[in-house]
Formats: sequence, C-alpha cells, structure tokens
Amino acid sequence: MAAEVKPGGEVAYTLRAGDHRLPLNERVGTPLSLEWSGAIACTNCGRATRKSFGQGHCYPCFKRLAQCDTCIVKPETCHYHQGTCREPQWGERFCFQPHVVYLANSSGLKVGITRKTQMPTRWLDQGAIQALPILEVDTRLQSGLVEMLFKEQVADRTNWRAMLKGAVAEIDLEAERRHLLALLAPGLAQLRERFGSEAVKEIVNPVLRFHYPVQTFPTKVVSHNFDKQPKVSGTLMGIKGQYLMLDSGVINLRKFTGYEVRVR
Ligand SMILES: [Zn+2]
Repeated sequence: MAAEVKPGGEVAYTLRAGDHRLPLNERVGTPLSLEWSGAIACTNCGRATRKSFGQGHCYPCFKRLAQCDTCIVKPETCHYHQGTCREPQWGERFCFQPHVVYLANSSGLKVGITRKTQMPTRWLDQGAIQALPILEVDTRLQSGLVEMLFKEQVADRTNWRAMLKGAVAEIDLEAERRHLLALLAPGLAQLRERFGSEAVKEIVNPVLRFHYPVQTFPTKVVSHNFDKQPKVSGTLMGIKGQYLMLDSGVINLRKFTGYEVRVR
C-alpha cells in the first residue's frame, strides 16, 4: 500500500499489485474484502516461500540482504567499518547518504530517523499527524547515535493501538525541538567532535501535518491476521499508517507484504 501527501496534508492511499493500482480513499465507507490465496512471494527474489521473514522475504534473502540485518533497525550498530556489511555496495548507496532525525506525533511525541529521500513516507507509515525534521546527518550510523541520545528523553516507538483509536492530541513540536536541542547539546557536541563540526546539522523546517481518510475510529482495536483467517471483510471505516480499519477489525498490510491477496 502506497501513501502520498496531497496539498493540505491529505493522505492518499493506493493499493499496488504489479501494474494494478487501486485508489483506496474512495473506498472508505464501502464494503471491502481481502482474501489471501495462501501464496507468499519473496519481494526480493520472487520465489515462493511458506512463511514471510522480515516483512515479505524468503528465509535465504532474509539472512543474506543488508536491508534485513539488525543494524537497519539499530543503526548505531552499523558494522560496515568492520568489513562485515552483508552487502557493502548496498550499504554505501543507502546508509552512507544524508539521514534526518525527526520528531513526530503518532501516538504522542516520538523521535525517529529516516533517509532524507524517505520523507514523508516514513511518517505516513507510522500514522503520524505531525512531523518536524530537526537534524540532518551524513550517515545512517550517525543518525542512530543521535537517536540514542534522544531516546533517553523521548519514546522511539508508536503505540499503534493508540494511533488507531485516533484521539491523539496535537503537540507543540517546535517547543519540544527547542527543549530537546538545548537539553542534549552536550551529547550533540560530542558527536560533532567525533564526526566533524559539519556532521550533525540543525535544520529548520515548518511542522508538517497529515490528515488520514478516516470516517470512524475504532473504540476497541482488534486485528485481523491472514495467517489465522485468510478472508477478511467488512466496511472500510478508514486508513491510517499501514492499517486498513474495517468495522470487523484492523489489518496491518505492511505485515503481509508479499502475500497474494484478492481484493474486492
Ligand atoms: Zn527471496
């Protein structure tokens, strides 16, 4: 499921399969059924796999690809400099490029990192209603080290149930930015000493706001799981983050990447 931001911050969702495109916003308020055929194709090599590893990979790809390594989730553990990167060329392309440290509000204040080219996708994936990029760094490793500093003060995870219930209050991200940058100045200065004065740059951006196509938020969040129940249907009440919210329960489509699903 792809998400893009329209002018004004409206988020538009499209379901993609091969060359097919199904715009989803217009389906909100109408019945929707998803049926998994039982097949899973690895998103990297296309091979059939009985189980999905690391959101849509076969086991060999999951063990071999750098993008499935634990250092992607914990960038501060980047081991490229030890000569052990699973795919050094991939690492050079994706990890040794500008990354952004941001504050966002998905279920409350959180800190996160993303490749500069992945904005705003990352925020939409998390169902953030506000986001503010605050620092730019040269590499993924540096972004992980900066995030470590922030994690002492701020959450780095989204409470997805709270995010889906919708009652998320706005936060003054500008004020949080000022407060955190002042509080963490000594730690940031240390990182600049280590990587060079230009390595960790403060950036000034307006706060971004996102509006999701939701008619009714669920009061109780029940999740569907294709592995347990291959047919999911109901009235589509809304879409937020990577979740379809049906009146029968929610489903995280990201979790089922690579699953062959018939949509009606
Ligand atoms: Zn594969």
